[in-house]
Amino acid sequence: MRFVSTRGGTPPTGIDAALIAGLAPDGGLYVPATVPVLDPAITRTASPTLAATAAQALAPYFGDSALREALPALCARAYAFDAPLRPLRGDGNDDGGDDFLLELFHGPTAAFKDYAARFLAECLSALRAADAPTTTILVATSGDTGAAVAGAFHRRPGFAVVILYPDGRVSPRQAHGLECWGDNVRTFRVAGTFDDCQRMAKAALSDRDLRERMALTSANSISLGRLLPQVAYYAHTARNFFAARGEALDLIVPTGNLGNAAAALLAQRMGFPIGDIVLATNANDVLPRFFAGGDYAPEATKATLANAMDVGAPSNFERLRHWFADDAALRAALRAEAVDDATIRATIAAAPARHGVVPCPHTACGLHVLERLRADGDARPWAVVATAHPAKFDSIVEPLVGHAVEVPPALAEGLARPAHGEPLAVDDAALRARLLDG
Ligand SMILES: *Cc1c(COP(=O)(O)O)cnc(C)c1O
Repeated sequence: MRFVSTRGGTPPTGIDAALIAGLAPDGGLYVPATVPVLDPAITRTASPTLAATAAQALAPYFGDSALREALPALCARAYAFDAPLRPLRGDGNDDGGDDFLLELFHGPTAAFKDYAARFLAECLSALRAADAPTTTILVATSGDTGAAVAGAFHRRPGFAVVILYPDGRVSPRQAHGLECWGDNVRTFRVAGTFDDCQRMAKAALSDRDLRERMALTSANSISLGRLLPQVAYYAHTARNFFAARGEALDLIVPTGNLGNAAAALLAQRMGFPIGDIVLATNANDVLPRFFAGGDYAPEATKATLANAMDVGAPSNFERLRHWFADDAALRAALRAEAVDDATIRATIAAAPARHGVVPCPHTACGLHVLERLRADGDARPWAVVATAHPAKFDSIVEPLVGHAVEVPPALAEGLARPAHGEPLAVDDAALRARLLDG
């Protein structure tokens, strides 16, 4: 299997080189040259574990990889925790059996990004030459990516992680989750916005002199090694749902940079029985306006309660455009709905009685879209993707539901460790100096 750039300016590349590079040399995003369609003997049958499905779903991409033989073992380590499909309580108008939550928050940092970060870490470790210099992974994060990448690479020989996050713009528990590592992880709280962090990371990554002095790479959501592993939980859920019920499962995906939703679309194209896919955004409504027929018009980011989805220019949009003949075809395949902060609050407050769960603010966007679909008479089985655990956003969620939210053990472990963050100005030279003194 070869990988090409969405911008068409890079020769077809094997998976190992594409995983290491992350971004294509022409500035585009890597996509598989053709999407493999799997046998119904895989896509429509039950599978015992997420790790087993991951190995089957990812095998076609790794046919000529040095990791081909190791893939099942690597998946067993990366997908070491479940992604359960939990039935939601109905709202009194139905039997409650057809509303589901796909819980992707059972990993060490309690957000879906754990799966892909751990898979990427396993791949990069296995591909690394024993005598190679330490690779520093530089991540700008609006909250969850940095923690997942830090957790996946923490104490991993041959790797160091540098995190940049916007001081004061993540939840207190997210901040602690970014600062609780130490060892080979350094965390900088930047006196600026997420956009400042991202710009500083880009400046460092394109600093030729710096890159000659240290092995520097990134692990952001457009890396191929983040996209592919996210296919696994959609594939696993859809095949088991089909095996049990004989029908496709429809998905509502809380969306920011479109990485998670792009993986759902890829799983559908690979033949896994996924019905409709609806994107739920927060007040950053670039995608809802596009899917309603408007131009694609990126905007400055607005801060919302669902901060991990505060994206004004979704970077994976380029992949979606690549996969469809034109915008009309893309609009026919997906829909998107925006949810404002007032509605997020109301949805969280009502969710325990209405659905039997406490959602995080991102998941609440998805739940609200489900409520709209049911109000419009849609009777199909829908799963809302739960992207983070509510305990990570306790300062928002607890006052709305009126009680404490239990902290999952892995998250509690991180919260109990001391914080190691260092302040940093919005200053490329200051970051460069810190990278070189590290
Ligand atoms: C990253 C994140 C999202 C958005 O996912 P994308 O792949 O960027 O669309 C949604 N919810 C949570 C909790 C996240 O961490």
